Amino acid sequence: MSAAVPVDVWVGLGANLGEREQALREALQAMARWPDTRLVNVSALYASSPIDAGGPDYLNAVALLRTTLPALDVLQRLQSIEQGAGRERPYRNAPRTLDLDILRYGNAELDTPTLTVPHPRMAERAFVLLPMAEVSPALVSEAALQAVADQRIERLPKAWVADLLSKK
Ligand code: AMP
Repeated sequence: MSAAVPVDVWVGLGANLGEREQALREALQAMARWPDTRLVNVSALYASSPIDAGGPDYLNAVALLRTTLPALDVLQRLQSIEQGAGRERPYRNAPRTLDLDILRYGNAELDTPTLTVPHPRMAERAFVLLPMAEVSPALVSEAALQAVADQRIERLPKAWVADLLSKK
């Protein structure tokens, strides 16, 4: 069942193996097809070095959805998109074809065995904060950006997903 009032949900996307941009694009296409959901905005792509792990650079982005789907439903749907992208988890922080996180689910504060929102490590990561600031500037303070200013990250030219944004 859907909640009556649509909620803004911020999703962090990352990929550092295989066809990275295509994996992110397909994930966004899948989200845009969810019932009772609009893909409202997507940041530019950012390239960042893996944190606490090896492997190629990540491509990252943040998407803003507006949905009446419950938070756990969103999580399950994200996990099924990850699985569809062939993600394996041989060890913690292993390189991955696709990583999808719920960064915020409206103003909800949840701490359950399967879902913690706001995402607990969000504030430590330039690859979350920069694209999030682009999508929703009011959510990211100057101080928060300063705190991650030493992390290597590069903004790539925008317009990579303009065609996917919902007109509904
Ligand atoms: P990861 O390997 O980083 O994708 O972590 C996946 C695990 O984190 C799953 O078991 C989720 O249930 C759990 N999890 C907790 N909070 C979140 C969140 N906000 N977004 C995505 N996964 C979460």
